This record gives sequence, structure tokens and C-alpha cells, in this order.
Amino acid sequence: MIISGKELSARLKAEMAAQVSSFPEKYGRVPHLVVILVGDDPASVSYVTGKAKASQVVGIENTTIRRPSDISEEELLGLIRELNADDTVDGILVQLPLPEHISEARVIETISKDKDVDGFHPLNVAALWQKQPCTLPCTPKGIIKMLKAAGVKIKGKRAVVIGRSNIVGLPVAKLLLDENATVTIAHSRTADLPSVTREADILVVAIGRPRFVTADMVKDGAAVIDVGVNRDPETGKLCGDVDFAAIEPKASVITPVPGGVGPMTICCLMENTIECFLNKMTPKKV
Ligand code: NAP
Repeated sequence: MIISGKELSARLKAEMAAQVSSFPEKYGRVPHLVVILVGDDPASVSYVTGKAKASQVVGIENTTIRRPSDISEEELLGLIRELNADDTVDGILVQLPLPEHISEARVIETISKDKDVDGFHPLNVAALWQKQPCTLPCTPKGIIKMLKAAGVKIKGKRAVVIGRSNIVGLPVAKLLLDENATVTIAHSRTADLPSVTREADILVVAIGRPRFVTADMVKDGAAVIDVGVNRDPETGKLCGDVDFAAIEPKASVITPVPGGVGPMTICCLMENTIECFLNKMTPKKV
């Protein structure tokens, strides 16, 4: 079975649109997401456009602020601080990657934790690892939603995550652990990777290398989640980290690229923006 992130995200966005339509009467306005785009890298422009389109579907206000690639770090941090102080802004996202002269870490830690819709702020990351309330990072959150929507049982299963980045590999592994899977994290120094991946009931691949995972690396009946976004060196088309054609017949469920994890990431960004808005509008009593 192919898990269509496109279809699942369309359904979830329609549900969010119905929820958001009640906000003007309840709260006097709709959630407001501000996306900052530095420079004009085509991939980043396309991601930012996707976020604006999804906001429109869900009924969220979206402002995209464009700045040239030679903006200074101080100027960018100043803009973020202004948005932190702006009560009409609920979510702030700075599209990554940033030009080399700007520290991504400083940018991420400058965004207010309460407006950090990406879930990248160190306080959100710490809260995730301590099982405290937090904003979950969008891609890992979307992956768990896809597995559940496809009826994949996670509890007690062996999960292998290839990749240990802060934005995908590590948080996916933590969320799978929280769902009571037994999790192995593999990486570029893992010895005999195929023998590790062949043990996986659930295999999540977040490497960034076209068709790296071949059919002999996958157990029969595994659930395979392909996070990678690459250009096929032969055709120039988008492709994942997994050899989809060879693995699809073996897997119980598999995500396609494009149309899999990508749309769910944007869908969860919408959900996180609504959550940040509601946390502000209906603060929980301590
Ligand atoms: P990253 O920071 O470059 O991390 C890549 C990971 O893959 C690293 O942990 C690296 O291991 C591991 N790796 C590299 N070569 C390997 C090998 N030969 N064998 C085993 N592991 C290997 O990348 P990322 O940000 O996590 O992103 C991964 C992919 O997901 C990219 O294609 C990215 O575009 C895509 N992505 C998609 C979405 C989406 O919404 N669909 C969102 C985010 C990212 P080491 O730690 O040992 O170096």
C-alpha cells in the first residue's frame, strides 16, 4: 500500500480549515504565520510558496518576508525580535538553509519558543526529550501521523531510522520511542548497514542520497518511510532515498517521493501554527 501524504494532508487541512473558520467569532482573528525567506534559492522559494498555498487552504494569514542573501545576521535577528514582540504574529519560520555568514543556531534560538512553529528552538527540543508539552518538529510529527493513518502498529515493533540530524533523524527516533517501538539509529559510520535495516519492521530513511536503500536492505512486510528529497542524477526528476520501484512490492506500506512526507510536513506546520495561536488565546492554567 502506498501512503499518500498528499491525500492525508488534504483531508487534515480540510479539517483544520473548518476549525479555523470558527476562530474570527471566538477569538476575533485567525492565526498568523510569518515566513522569512533570505535569498532566492529555487528550492527554498518553492518550499515557501508551498507554505503560503497551504495557509490559504487552511484559512491562516500568511506573510512572506523576503530579504536579500547579503542581509547581515544582526539585521535578520532584529527582524525576528520585532516579530517576537508583535502580538498579531503567532508563528515565525525562517526558511533554511541560510547563507553561510548567518548562524542558523543563533537564528533558531532567537525565535521566541512560543512562536517556533518548526519546533527547532532548543527549549522545544529539550521539552521533547523530557516528555514535556512542546511544539513537535513538522517532519517527524507528519511521519508518525502517516504510520498511524496507514494502520501500522508501532508499539513493540523494531524501528530503524537512518540519519541522525537534529531536524529529522533524532526527533523521529524519539517519537517512535515514545510510541514504544524499539529504535535503532543508523548513520554514515554504521557497520554493515543492510544487516541493521533488514531487522526493521519500520524503516525511516533520512539521508539525502538518491535511491540509496535497495530492495536487499528491506525486510518483507516492512513499513518504509522515505524522507529524502533528491534529484535523480539520470532524469533530473525528484526522487527519494529509497529505490521505490524495487521496494514497493516487498513493503507492507511505503511513502512515495514526491507526494509522501513532504506534504505532511507542511500540513503539520499548519497544525503547529494553530497550536501556537490557541496556546496564546487560551493559556493553560498552571
Ligand atoms: P542531514 O543533516 O544531511 O543528515 C543526513 C544523515 O544521513 C546523517 O545523519 C548522515 O550520517 C546520514 N548518512 C549520510 N550518508 C549515509 C550513509 N552512506 N549511510 C548511512 N547514513 C548516512 O540531512 P537531513 O536534514 O536529515 O535530511 C535528510 C534528507 O531528508 C534530505 O534529502 C532532505 O532534503 C530530506 N528532508 C525532507 C523533508 C521533507 O519534508 N520531506 C524535511 C527535511 C529533510 P552522519 O550523521 O554520520 O553524517
